[in-house]
Amino acid sequence: MHDVAIVGSGPVGGVLALALADADLDVVALDARAEGTVPRGDRSLALSHGARLIFERVGIWSRLAAAPDAVTPITSIDISQAGGFGVTRLAAAEQGLPALGYVVSYNALQHAIDAALKRARIAVRFGTLVESVGGTPTYAAVSVAGSDETPLLARLAVVADGTGTTVQGVTREHRAYGQVALIARVWMERPHGGVAFERFTADGPMALLPEGDHYGLVWTLTPEAAATALALPDDAFLASVAHHFGARVSGFARVAQRKTFPLALEVARPSVATRCILVGNAAQALHPIAGQGFNLGVRDSFELARAIVATERDALGSRAMVSAYAASRRADRVAGIAFTHGLTRIFASSAPLVSWPRGLALALLDTLPPAKKAFTRAMLFGLS
Ligand SMILES: Cc1cc2nc3c(=O)[nH]c(=O)nc-3n(C[C@H](O)[C@H](O)[C@H](O)COP(=O)(O)OP(=O)(O)OC[C@H]3O[C@@H](n4cnc5c(N)ncnc54)[C@H](O)[C@@H]3O)c2cc1C
Repeated sequence: MHDVAIVGSGPVGGVLALALADADLDVVALDARAEGTVPRGDRSLALSHGARLIFERVGIWSRLAAAPDAVTPITSIDISQAGGFGVTRLAAAEQGLPALGYVVSYNALQHAIDAALKRARIAVRFGTLVESVGGTPTYAAVSVAGSDETPLLARLAVVADGTGTTVQGVTREHRAYGQVALIARVWMERPHGGVAFERFTADGPMALLPEGDHYGLVWTLTPEAAATALALPDDAFLASVAHHFGARVSGFARVAQRKTFPLALEVARPSVATRCILVGNAAQALHPIAGQGFNLGVRDSFELARAIVATERDALGSRAMVSAYAASRRADRVAGIAFTHGLTRIFASSAPLVSWPRGLALALLDTLPPAKKAFTRAMLFGLS
C-alpha cells in the first residue's frame, strides 16, 4: 500500500508531490496526460507573490523564471471604473517587493514541474485515467479506467484532478454566473512595462495582464455580448476594447486567439471524504476576477504537504488527520470564495446606486493607506 496517491499531477498536484520529495514516504502520482504533453498549455495563470515563495521552496522558481517568456512580473496594477470617479494604482515598489504578482505560462509551469518531479525521482504514472476514488476506514482505493487490475491502495488519496468528479461521496455545487470570459492576446504600440489594468465597466469587468511581448485580455461578458464581440473583425474588436478602457489605456495594435469559456463558482461539498482530500480546482474553482483561484490551490497543496509531513505514517489519511486538515484550510477557502464572489456581485452591477459606492470604494482605496495595504495584501498573498 502506498502512503500517498495523488490523482492529477497538474500545477497543484505537482506542487504537492514536489513538497513531499524529501519526506520518507511512498508517494505515487497518476495523471491522464501522456508524458511530455500539456493539454491546457495555452492558458496563463495569475501567480501571487505568496505562490512564488512556495515555488521557491519546492525548487521550481529559478528554472521557471529563466525559461523564455515563461514569467512576466506585474510591477503595478491600475484599477478603474468606466463612468465612475475612482481610480487606484497599486505599485510593487510601495510594498517593497520586486513585483505585485506574475503572469505565468501554464505550459512552461507544467514542464518545469514535470522536469522537477523527474529529477526528484517521484513516480508519476502518465496516461492513467482515474475513474473513481473511494475510501474505507483503513485505505483509499483508486480505480483506473480500462484496467482489470485491482484498485491502487493508499493510506491517503489526494485528488488534484481539476474537477473532483472522481471522488465518491463528494458532490460539486455549481453556481453559474450567466457570464463568459472572453480571452485574447493583444499587442500594443508600446511595451507594457509590466503594468496591468483592471477596468470595471457596465458590460462587465475586464483585465489586461502583461504576458511576454503582449497583453492577455480577460473580459467578462454575457454570452450574447461575447458572441457579438467574437464575431467582430479585428479592428472593430480592438476599437470596442479601447472604448471600454477609455482614457486609461491607448495604443491597441493587434489581437489574436480570441476565445470564450463559461464562468461559474464550483465548490466540492464536502472538500474531504473517507481517506481522501481534494485540493486546487478539484476543491474549488473560482471566477478569475481577483486572480485568487490558482493561488488558493497552491496554498492547499503546500499546507497539505506540511500536514502530511507532521503526521505519523500510520495516522496518514485517518479521520482525525483528514478532519484537522479540512478545519485548518476552512478560513482561507471561505475567504477566497467570499472575496471573489463578493467582487463579482459588487462589480457586475451597473445600477447607479451601486456604481457610486463602488467608485467611492476605489477612491478610498487610493487615499486610505491601511485599506489599500489590506487589499494589496489580499491580492499578493491571499486572504488568510
Ligand atoms: C478554461 C479555463 C481558463 C482559465 N484561465 C485562467 C487564467 O486566465 N488565469 C488563472 O489564474 N487561472 C485560470 N484558470 C484556472 C486555472 O487553470 C486553475 O486554477 C489551475 O489550472 C488549477 O490547477 P489544478 O492542478 O488544480 O487543476 P488542472 O490544471 O486542471 O490540472 C489537473 C490535472 O489532473 C489531470 N487529470 C484530470 N482528470 C484526471 C483523471 N480522471 N485521472 C488522472 N488525471 C486527471 C489533468 O491531466 C491535469 O494534469 C482557468 C481555468 C479554466 C477552466
